[in-house]
Amino acid sequence: MKLVYFDHNATTPVHPEIKNAMLPFLGEAFGNPSSSHQPARGARMAVEKARGQVAALINAEPDEIVFTSGGTEGDNHAIKGVLFNFLRHGHQWHGHQWRGGQWRGGHAITTAVEHPAVLESFMFMKKFFGFETTCLPVDGSGMPDPDDLKKAIRADTVLVSIMTANNETGNIFPVREMARTAHEHGILFHTDAVQMTGKLPIDVKDLGVDLLTASGHKFNAPKGAGFQFIRKGTAAEALFSGGHQERGFRAGTENVPGIAALGMACELARTGMKEKMEHIRPLRDRLEEGILGSVSETVLNGHGKNRVYNTCNISFRYIEAEALLQMLDMRGICVSTGSACSSETAEPSHVLQAMGLSPVCSRGAVRFSLGLGNTAEEVDYCLYVLPPLVRRLQEMSPLFPAK
Ligand SMILES: *Cc1c(COP(=O)(O)O)cnc(C)c1O
Repeated sequence: MKLVYFDHNATTPVHPEIKNAMLPFLGEAFGNPSSSHQPARGARMAVEKARGQVAALINAEPDEIVFTSGGTEGDNHAIKGVLFNFLRHGHQWHGHQWRGGQWRGGHAITTAVEHPAVLESFMFMKKFFGFETTCLPVDGSGMPDPDDLKKAIRADTVLVSIMTANNETGNIFPVREMARTAHEHGILFHTDAVQMTGKLPIDVKDLGVDLLTASGHKFNAPKGAGFQFIRKGTAAEALFSGGHQERGFRAGTENVPGIAALGMACELARTGMKEKMEHIRPLRDRLEEGILGSVSETVLNGHGKNRVYNTCNISFRYIEAEALLQMLDMRGICVSTGSACSSETAEPSHVLQAMGLSPVCSRGAVRFSLGLGNTAEEVDYCLYVLPPLVRRLQEMSPLFPAK
């Protein structure tokens, strides 16, 4: 049975050219970039070449790129690194101080629909250091309102972290405008761009963000390699104590094969972005229109227009998404309910809850996320298989209005 993989927002297959780019560093070019002999030089050159390829993708300078293990590390580093640095330097003038046996003062802003790596990093900083967090709401289409950011800013706000594109709906947030608002108040701005990087153009100079997080495995590089953009002059504490790799931002011997692959992924994304978009968007639209047009009691979740071209989140009313996922899996079709990270728990997705979906809608929400390898035949196969399965599940529900 052929696999129809519609779960690219969870992870992507490794592109053959990207796999080839890492192979030398699993073989003879095994050196540690910090050493000073022949194999080390080869490894060091590979890391610096990749740094240039990453920088070119997002219009940054090479020395503004720090290699990480991926999106989770990047989000943790941006949030904790900036707030730790503030603890070191900033509490005098932002009123953050040790009072009555605990830290008080200090405030940061994010949205209610961020990835857990962001939300949990804020929870950590609250739990251990007393930072208060405001989570901006989203509207029914999953969009934050830039005016809400203006209202949420306080005298002691030190960081705003708002994602570029949402992993569950694909919604693209007005990050440029919100970064400008933050800067008008002297506040640092981080964006989790994991779902945008490699799919749509990113220009950090135009966006105006101070920190940006990306992860290779969401755009056809292997797992365990990502990068963070840190604008020149932006201070953030290192989360790992150790050597001086990555200009002191990230101790530890570099993941040279992963970094070489990540560099190649950025190169391919930069040169092939238009083709990628032109390949995937019509497939996503065909799938989306096909489902909405042939299955009753469906709703599209997310913004109709401001959305990454590969993502489609649909609620099938009166069914359990998990049941549909299992039935599709038996027929070789891979989709996801909510985010992969929370699919073990029975709780409906925090993103769909923040959008105000009724339980009957959030329980039946399925995410289809397409990628480079998908074909029109796969979309048509899904459109052939899915409607009768949904109908069967809907008819099992006592709530389903009989037709
Ligand atoms: C996948 C994802 C992450 C986590 O990235 P990893 O590399 O898997 O740790 C963070 N944010 C968003 C929006 C994601 O989609």
